[in-house]
Amino acid sequence: MSLYVLILFVGALVSGAVALIAWQRPATATGRALAYLMAAVFLWSVAATLQAAAYSMEAKILFSKLQYLGIVSSPVLLFLFALEFSRSGHRVGVAVRVALWVIPATTLILVATNGSHRLIWSKFSLVPAAGGHALTYEFGGFFWVHAGYSYILFVAAALLIVRSFFRFKDIHRQQALTLLLALPWPWVANFLFISGQNGAFAGQDYTPFGFVIAGLFLLWGILRLQLVDLLPVARRKVIESMGESLIVLDEAGRVAGMNPAARKLLASVGGRDESANDKDIVGHTADEVFSTWPEMAAALSAPAAGRAELAWKRGGQPNRTFNLHLSPLGGPASRAKGWVAVLYDFTPVKEAEAQAVEVRRVAEALHQTGVTLSQTLDPKQMSNLILELLGRIIPFDIGVFLTAQGADLRLDGLRGFPNGQPLLGQSFPMAGCRLCDSAALRKRPLISAITSPDDILLPVPKDLLLRSYLGIPLVFQDHVKGLLALYDSRPDRFTERDVHIAEPFANQVAISLENSRLFEELSRLAVTDNLTGLLNRRAFSEAAEREFERARRYRRPLSLILFDIDKFKSVNDAHGHLIGDQVLRVLSETVRKTTRATDIVCRWGGEEFLILMPEQGHDQAFSTAERLRQDASNLVVVTPSGHLSLTISLGVASLKRQEGESLDGLIGRADAAMYEAKAAGRNAVRG
Ligand code: GH3
Ligand code: MG
Ligand code: MG
Repeated sequence: MSLYVLILFVGALVSGAVALIAWQRPATATGRALAYLMAAVFLWSVAATLQAAAYSMEAKILFSKLQYLGIVSSPVLLFLFALEFSRSGHRVGVAVRVALWVIPATTLILVATNGSHRLIWSKFSLVPAAGGHALTYEFGGFFWVHAGYSYILFVAAALLIVRSFFRFKDIHRQQALTLLLALPWPWVANFLFISGQNGAFAGQDYTPFGFVIAGLFLLWGILRLQLVDLLPVARRKVIESMGESLIVLDEAGRVAGMNPAARKLLASVGGRDESANDKDIVGHTADEVFSTWPEMAAALSAPAAGRAELAWKRGGQPNRTFNLHLSPLGGPASRAKGWVAVLYDFTPVKEAEAQAVEVRRVAEALHQTGVTLSQTLDPKQMSNLILELLGRIIPFDIGVFLTAQGADLRLDGLRGFPNGQPLLGQSFPMAGCRLCDSAALRKRPLISAITSPDDILLPVPKDLLLRSYLGIPLVFQDHVKGLLALYDSRPDRFTERDVHIAEPFANQVAISLENSRLFEELSRLAVTDNLTGLLNRRAFSEAAEREFERARRYRRPLSLILFDIDKFKSVNDAHGHLIGDQVLRVLSETVRKTTRATDIVCRWGGEEFLILMPEQGHDQAFSTAERLRQDASNLVVVTPSGHLSLTISLGVASLKRQEGESLDGLIGRADAAMYEAKAAGRNAVRG
C-alpha cells in the first residue's frame, strides 16, 4: 500500500474518533457542529482511501464521486462551527442554514450526473503512482463555482474566528487562537492538490488529511472551550428548572421575562394562564401582570433592593407566604437598567414551623397534665384541671367531664357552661345520649356533627347552637372509666388532628382517674375498721387530737363517751364468733344513727367504742349516752338460733376548762366512769 493510502486511512480513523469524542461531550452547539464536520471529513477520508486503493478507473471514479459527500459539506460545517463559536449560544436562522447548502447540494447532483454534462470533471486520466495508478482530473466549469464557494466559506470562518480573537478575552481568546491554528491545514493541502495536479503530487489529494489535522486542533480548542461554554447553558437550565420564581423587569418596570416557576405562580394567583402566550406577559407592566395580587404588583412597581415578605390570601385559598428578593441589574439601584425578582415560596417552612410550635405546645400540655394529675387525687379538682388543660390544646366552647358509674355517666366537671354548677354530680343514663354512648362503645375518640338537641347531654340554652362534637372516652385496661365530651358552635370544628392529640391525653387522664379511685379506696381502708366501718383507733387518735386541741385553744366544750357491751363473752360463747361479729355490726349502725355527723366514732378495741363529741357539754353528752343505752337495749338481732338482745354500759367525760388535762386523761376518766356503770349492775350511764 502506498504512503498516500496509509495517510488517508489514518486520517479516516482519526476523524471518526474525533467525531465520536466531540459528539459525546456534553451537548453544546459548538461540540455538535464539530462532530458533524468531522463526520463529513471521515466520509471524505474513507472514500478517498478507497479511491486511492482501487485499481479500475470505474471504481476510482465511483469513489471520487462518493468523496464529494464529504467535500461539499466540510466547508459549510466548518463555517457553521465558526459561527457557533463566535456567537456563543446565538441561534442561526433556518433560512441561513438552508441557503448555505444550495451550492453544495447542486454540486452533489452535478457530481452524480457528471457523465452527461461534465460540469465537474471534464476528463479523467490514470497516471502511474506508487503501488498502482492514481486518478487525475481536469475540472469542469461548476467545479470552480464549488471551489470558490468553499474558499469563501473558509475565509468567512477564518474571519469569524479572527473577530472572536479580538472580541473575546482571556481563555476565549486563547481558544480563538487555537482554532486559527486549525485553519491553514486543509487550505494548504487543497491548494497543493488543485495547483499540483500534474506535479509531484499528481492524483494525491491531502485535503481530507488537512481537515483531520484541523479537526484535532478544533477538538483541543473545544475541550478547553466547553468548560466555559457550560456556564451559560447551566445558567439557563437552572433558571428554567428552579423552583423559585424569577421575574426580570426592564428599566421602565415592564416584565422582560419569567421562568416557568414564575408563570406557574402567576397562574396560581389568578393571573395569566401558564399556557398564555409570552407576548401577553412580556412588555406589560408588573401592575398589569400581577393585577390579581396587589401586594406583589406594588413591590415590583417600585422596586427596592433587598428582601421582603409577601403574603397571598384569598377566600378559600390557604394562606401562602413568600420571600421576595429584588436586585438591580446593570448598576446600583439608583441607575438600574432593570430588576430581577426572585420569589421563594416558604409556606411549607412556615407550616412546618407552626406545626413544630403546635407539637411543642401539645407535648407541654401533656407533660403538664401528667405532672398536675400526679399531684391531684381529688376527683373534683382533677376534672376541672383536665378540662382546662384540654382547652389549651383543643379549643372548645363547652367541655364536660363524666365518670362512668355502671350504666350511668356522672357529671363531675364542666367548662364553658353558664350556671352549670347545679348539674355537677348528676347522673345521666349513658344510653340516653347517642353520641356519648357511641364514643364509649368504640372506646376511641368520636367526631360527629350535632344534628339534634338529644345529641347533647346538657340542657343547653336555646340561643347557643352547638354543631360539633368530640367524645373522648377515658379507657383503662379496656374499661371505659369516663368520658370527655366537647361541644363547639362552629361546624366541623373537630378534626383528626384533635383525635391524635386527644388519645394520649385521654390515656393519661384515665390512668390518673384510676389512681385517684385506688387512692380513695386505700385511704378509706387505712382509716376504718374492717368489721364495722367505723374509724380505727389510729385514725380516731389523729382526728380526736385535732378536735381536742381546738377545743382547748378556743375554750370550746368537748365530751367523750366510752361504752362496752355487757357480757359479750357469753354472746360469743352461746352463738359463736360470727354471730358476735354480726352483733358488733348492728350495734355500730345504731351508734352511727344516734350520733351527729360531727361526732367522731371509733371502734376502740374488741367490743369497746369511743365517741368524741365536739361542741358538746357534759349534759348534752350524757343525754346522748342515755339515748344510746336505750337504743342498744331496744336492739333485737335476728340470728338463726333465735332473737338476741343486748345492753351496754357507758361512761361520759367532758373537758374541764381550768385543768391541763390530755386526751388520754379524758379517755381515762370516761373509762373509769364506764367501769362505775358496770359495777352499778351494767346497762347504765355514769360520768
Ligand atoms: P363485761 O360485761 O364485764 O364487759 O363482760 P364481757 O364478757 O363483755 O367481758 P369483756 O368485755 O372483758 O369481754 C370481751 C369479750 O368480747 C371477749 C371476746 O370474746 C369478745 N370480743 C372481743 N372482740 C370481739 C370481736 O371482734 N368479735 C367477737 N365475736 N367477739 C369479740
Ligand atoms: Mg370489754
Ligand atoms: Mg364487755
